[in-house]
Amino acid sequence: MDCQGSTIHTARPALSGNRRPYARSPVKATGYYGRTLSARRLCIAAVCALLAILSGAPAAQAPAAAPPYTVLSREGRRPLAARMVSGQEMFALEDLARLFDLSVREDAAAGGLTVTVRNQIIVLSAGQSLASVGGRLISLPSAPVRDGRTWLVPVDFVPRALAPLLGSRVELRKPSRLLLLGDIRAPHIAGRIEPMGSLARLTLEVAPATAHTVSQDGQRLIVRFEADMLDAVLPGTTAPELIQGVRAGDGPATITIDLGPRFASFRTSDQPGDRGSVRIVIDVLAPSTEPPPQQGLSSIPGSSQEAPPLFEVAPVGGLRTVVVDAGHGGSEEGAKGPEGTLEKNVTLSVARRLKAALEARLGVRVILTRDGDATVGLDERAALGNNNKADLFVSLHANASMRPATSGAEVFFLSLEEYGDAAQRAAHGDSESLPVFGGGTRDIELIPWEMAQARYIQESAALAQAVEASLRERVPVSPRAIQQAPFRVLVGANMPAVLVEMGFLTNPDQEKQLRSDDFQNIVVQAVVEGITRFRDARIAARPAGTAR
Ligand SMILES: [Zn+2]
Repeated sequence: MDCQGSTIHTARPALSGNRRPYARSPVKATGYYGRTLSARRLCIAAVCALLAILSGAPAAQAPAAAPPYTVLSREGRRPLAARMVSGQEMFALEDLARLFDLSVREDAAAGGLTVTVRNQIIVLSAGQSLASVGGRLISLPSAPVRDGRTWLVPVDFVPRALAPLLGSRVELRKPSRLLLLGDIRAPHIAGRIEPMGSLARLTLEVAPATAHTVSQDGQRLIVRFEADMLDAVLPGTTAPELIQGVRAGDGPATITIDLGPRFASFRTSDQPGDRGSVRIVIDVLAPSTEPPPQQGLSSIPGSSQEAPPLFEVAPVGGLRTVVVDAGHGGSEEGAKGPEGTLEKNVTLSVARRLKAALEARLGVRVILTRDGDATVGLDERAALGNNNKADLFVSLHANASMRPATSGAEVFFLSLEEYGDAAQRAAHGDSESLPVFGGGTRDIELIPWEMAQARYIQESAALAQAVEASLRERVPVSPRAIQQAPFRVLVGANMPAVLVEMGFLTNPDQEKQLRSDDFQNIVVQAVVEGITRFRDARIAARPAGTAR
């Protein structure tokens, strides 16, 4: 996807508590897939002329106007009219033709419409909710209907019929009335405020999980997301003494929390939500005669038992020790590139550079799990971190695929799914009953002490997001850039831990990159920056007034 222009970054989002998250802006009739306007106009005119001649379509209930959708792309935002026919939301086919550079032909004899999308064909039939998309039959919620000179198709025509043929991302979000095109990052955010005695809790459900920071700026808290814009539904205030309001921030991807007169400090934590979302919990605390509760909410009078526990934010002031793990080594070569580059050599080279950069730029102590071509067991690697009370564990790898074309960096943190309920309980501090996990296709055998990582999944997820966001700015990343997987090397780490696959060694171009100084230095820069973001977010998460 090529991204021309960046008007989106300057557009002001209209976050508000109502259902329509964005203000409308005037139509700019440029096609997303950018051919010339005049050609498209001619095409539309031809369609209109054809449609005007033909009038034999079945009578439909008269369309009523529906609130428009907002189309978001790298080119900016624009409205897309929607109409309601017999309880179905519809788009005008001519509007879609303009937006997606479609050509539409009506076949009067067959009672059908032929839509051409990038040399592929969708066939629609009047009165039928089935459509043929590139030869495959799909079902739509209703048949296309004629409205005067215009044909209307159900809004699901876009994700079900057009998206498979367009070859780029097309995401229709009906509840927020958004149509996202291309690589636009617009996480959906739903907020709520709960008063809880001496604190007010703001919870932001963010889908998909998006890297973010929370910082204080005088009487405001600023939540900054690594996104192009936000698709946010923000709460009304129910605790004005602590939180006066939650509103769109100054940037397109920020939220501002106006603090109330009783604000004394705040703290924040991230918790993994459903299906790849993240839940940001921000507690705004009033001054208290007793010390603010730190160990979870059960100690707060009046708080509900289901209240999610907060993970501890330690150590105070950020990071002291980081373990950098050069994947493989010695007899374990890891992946091998077509020209013979070995993963174990790439990882060691990057690990040494990363150590130097972290020490110089963050002033932390860095421990390498190996500083030579040595065979080191996976458990030994985690144990080295545990024995040195490391604050972070970063494992470096280069990926391999059967398909040479596969490329891009990926960041992993540990998945607990493989480990069942006991691991979930361990993640919430219930570390007494830990499972023995045996077998499965991944050949992992767990003994209780190896569940160390379970307690750090949330922080590991935040670290993975921060590192991924920094990598994404500098190197190619895979379509699935953040993943959870049951990596053995992460399981025993008693600290936030991530595994970075820097790229695919089996891809000839990436092999050249991975062994080059330039690329290795860029990866190092990205990982350092990701760790810095993670550290800063963690410092901001501590109650105000205790900063180092
Ligand atoms: Zn590896």
